[in-house]
Amino acid sequence: MKRICVYCGSSPGRNPAYMEAANQLAKVMCARGIGLVYGGAAIGVMGAIADAVLAGGQEAIGVIPESLAVKEVAHQNLSELHIVSSMHERKAMMAELADGFIAMPGGWGTLEEIFEILTWAQLGFHEKPCALLNVEGYYNGLIDFLEESFEQQFVKQVCRPMLMHGHDPVDLLDRFTTYRAPKVRKWVEEDEL
Ligand code: AMP
Repeated sequence: MKRICVYCGSSPGRNPAYMEAANQLAKVMCARGIGLVYGGAAIGVMGAIADAVLAGGQEAIGVIPESLAVKEVAHQNLSELHIVSSMHERKAMMAELADGFIAMPGGWGTLEEIFEILTWAQLGFHEKPCALLNVEGYYNGLIDFLEESFEQQFVKQVCRPMLMHGHDPVDLLDRFTTYRAPKVRKWVEEDEL
């Protein structure tokens, strides 16, 4: 694994544990020689993960749309900063550059990003692992809801491994290295495969 894309809040969040978790995740990535791909901002949890990865000696690549470069305060000291023309281009480039995807605590932007990449996994557009880093239970409510999506048969059980979750970045990255994407075709029953 060369690079991981981390989606996370452009705000620091209320609990200082969110910013601290960015440092912890960055440490684990650096110890394994894994670089960062992210949204390119210098603020919130986004800024914290980039600073910590750079401090740990790994590359941090930012991808930010022109229209947000000022608003989100683009990070000025990244290994690479790609300024792109749209949100779609941003997400496509981040997806291309990374070997796996982790959502740390964040807001609607973070949720949209992890669910988009997850739906791309479900459709077989990529075979890279996705995870929620569940810092201090931030994602507990969402994880419960996702159970309901299996229970009510809107998401196939075979897709379950596509979204890991846990509070320990070491464990998540271990699971990333052994991940094999399930074979699934969204519109075909499992027993037909
Ligand atoms: P947030 O989690 O809302 O603080 O946003 C985290 C990141 O997601 C920021 O870099 C936002 O630019 C980005 N973002 C916000 N809304 C969207 C969206 N609709 N699609 C993609 N990225 C978004």
